Amino acid sequence: MSALKLAAGMGRLGTESVFDMLARATELEAQGKPIIHLSIGQPDFKTPPHVVEAAIRALKDGHHGYTPTPGVRAVREAVAADVALRRGVSVDPAQVIVVPGGKVTMFFAIAMFGEPGAEILYPNPGFPIYESLIKWTGATPVPMRLTEASGFAFSADEVLAQITPRTRLLIVNTPANPTGGVVPKAELDRLAAGLERHPHVAILSDEIYARMLYDGHAHVSLLSYPAIRDRVILLDGWSKTYAMTGWRMGYGIWPKALVEPATRLAINCHSCVNSSAQFAGIAALEGPQDTVDAMNAAFTERRAATVDLLNGLPGFRCLSPGGAFYAFPNIAGTGRTSKQLETLFLEEAGVASVAGTSFGAMGEGYLRISYANSLENIRAAVERMRAVL
Ligand code: PLP
Repeated sequence: MSALKLAAGMGRLGTESVFDMLARATELEAQGKPIIHLSIGQPDFKTPPHVVEAAIRALKDGHHGYTPTPGVRAVREAVAADVALRRGVSVDPAQVIVVPGGKVTMFFAIAMFGEPGAEILYPNPGFPIYESLIKWTGATPVPMRLTEASGFAFSADEVLAQITPRTRLLIVNTPANPTGGVVPKAELDRLAAGLERHPHVAILSDEIYARMLYDGHAHVSLLSYPAIRDRVILLDGWSKTYAMTGWRMGYGIWPKALVEPATRLAINCHSCVNSSAQFAGIAALEGPQDTVDAMNAAFTERRAATVDLLNGLPGFRCLSPGGAFYAFPNIAGTGRTSKQLETLFLEEAGVASVAGTSFGAMGEGYLRISYANSLENIRAAVERMRAVL
């Protein structure tokens, strides 16, 4: 036993178990067992070459030092221009804080509002870090139920009914991880209108999958509702859209009143984002978008194949996800729990997936399948899954 005593919050801090799954899969691969990876949430594409070139050029040009904490002026301007172009909202570059990955905006928003006695509403099933961080701060996590029956979108009325005087923050994620669910505009309209009655509630809108939408869906940003704009924190970044997960580039658009505390958190945490990566970020936003389109065309094709193939498995039922690159099949008909099926598929079929319960208690009975892999691998994986079922 160690004599070291960790802070109590560490006992409440959770994790993202997909990284455990990845470690186990890597171990099996080292033993010579080939694994097909349908677990990790990152595009299987390379960052566009002109973006890589921009980072190399920045390094050669001597961008080796600290930058201003929220990012160099040009990257903040590029983000503001992109938000105006794609979300139709005019924001001041001074509201943009560039951070090392989308997760950091989430961390700052939850750290800023969470404390014992506070309540934070978050999607369940949802990105596991929301619940983990809420608990770490000592705040009470209040799950917003996302059900298959409603296409894994929430009911605005149900969410609004969960707000109390203690609610500090409401987290919305559309398109969503792990379900691929997209909240319809009508529901966002109702939510935004209802939130006008609750001016004490800040909103963290996680829009990291905003560019990955299918079936003609257009992205609706919570930032586009003027009545609540002064308390919406928009989370987005480069990881998914530009296949840049390893660059660690994300941004938040913060209400003007929150820019100072968010910047203070950044100063305490990381000082600034890697300087050359910021120049890559500018090139990504301002350069040609054809690689983004090509990637999304590939995801569209894979989505259709994945949903079809999964619906053909005994005991599986799978909705067609409206966005992101995840399918979230109902596996209750297999007679196994999510975790049992995840283990069975990994150990016996050599297929890495993620149990729905990794995304909260309400994920029981589901499995997350990432279709950020080739059609050939997706087909082979589903055949292997069929064989063990
Ligand atoms: N938000 C959601 C919903 C995600 O799924 C992820 C990554 O999987 C993130 C945020 C974090 O993205 P990043 O890798 O840029 O930190």
